[in-house]
Amino acid sequence: TNTQKAGITSAGGDGSGERADRRDQPVVYFVLPCYNEAEGLVHTADVLAAKVAHLTETGRISKQSRILFVDDGSKDDTWSIIRNLHERDAHLFGGVKLSHNRGHQNALLAGLMTARAYGCDAAISMDADLQDDVNAVDEFIDGFCNGNEIVYGVRSARKKDTWFKRTTAEAFYKVFEWMGAETVPDHADYRLMSRETLDALSEYHEVNLFLRGIVPTLGYQTSKVYYERGEREAGESKYPLKKMIAFAIQGITSFSTKPLSFVTGAGLLSILVAIGMFVYVLVSLGFGHAIAGWGSMMISIWLIGGLIMLSLGIVGEYVGKIYMESKHRPRYRIETTL
Ligand code: UDP
Ligand code: MG
Repeated sequence: TNTQKAGITSAGGDGSGERADRRDQPVVYFVLPCYNEAEGLVHTADVLAAKVAHLTETGRISKQSRILFVDDGSKDDTWSIIRNLHERDAHLFGGVKLSHNRGHQNALLAGLMTARAYGCDAAISMDADLQDDVNAVDEFIDGFCNGNEIVYGVRSARKKDTWFKRTTAEAFYKVFEWMGAETVPDHADYRLMSRETLDALSEYHEVNLFLRGIVPTLGYQTSKVYYERGEREAGESKYPLKKMIAFAIQGITSFSTKPLSFVTGAGLLSILVAIGMFVYVLVSLGFGHAIAGWGSMMISIWLIGGLIMLSLGIVGEYVGKIYMESKHRPRYRIETTL
């Protein structure tokens, strides 16, 4: 077996084995979830196609690389545009149509898993509105070729985003980390993932997806690429305030049961207040100016309230455990064995 392996390696030319070959001209799939993006999709396809053409002509990525659109149950012409693109260049453009609108995260997962099934070496996920600078792709590929399994796109400047979106996003990342979850600040699903990490991701079976929380917990060697986030090139945001808040709550509750501990904490605090009042009543009795009935009322309200919250909190802690167990997340993943 050893000689056979050595034979293959030397045939590869650089003597560094199979793995290195995969990073030399990798097959890269670009995955774009699209929801009602008809307005700008052809433009996006053209810009990306030019990028891919440049990368393949200069020998950076394999000619087997593809652009994969995921139609997330759009109500406009998105799918027929994807079909037209596929007819125009069946080799370059692929499409996946979801039967129903399942949201950005699920659409993205569908695309990534399709790319994995078709044997990509790496997949780059990006939005269909070109808000994330396409030129960062070069550095993504560099990062992958240099041995990174995940390359995160990080927004260095968000000048084009409104003040509101910027500050709420910042606050969210802070709260998210404080809740004990891992995240890459200012990173929003614009990233490269190797096939290895796509395999790892495929082991997560949870229904409430929050990829920005899962991917950093996969581990592996990673790097970051900084880019400036521009304006949406066409159409309008599919993330109105209502969806943004839902997404934030989704993120926190998918990764942390800390909010449940707050109930326990509040219960304990309430009991402490009751004890404080009890001491106060005793002292004022000693001085002989206690108000009749006040002590028994207030102390019992705070004590019973506290006990109820404490019991709720304890039940909650168990529910939280059941919740986390029910996700069936993999407990570990072996990166290498010697
Ligand atoms: N998207 C999707 N399904 C949805 C909502 C959005 O696939 O239900 C896609 C959308 O087409 C876009 C990406 O997710 O490619 C990000 O959405 P958007 O640009 O509207 O978000 P924003 O940049 O405003 O946060
Ligand atoms: Mg956008």
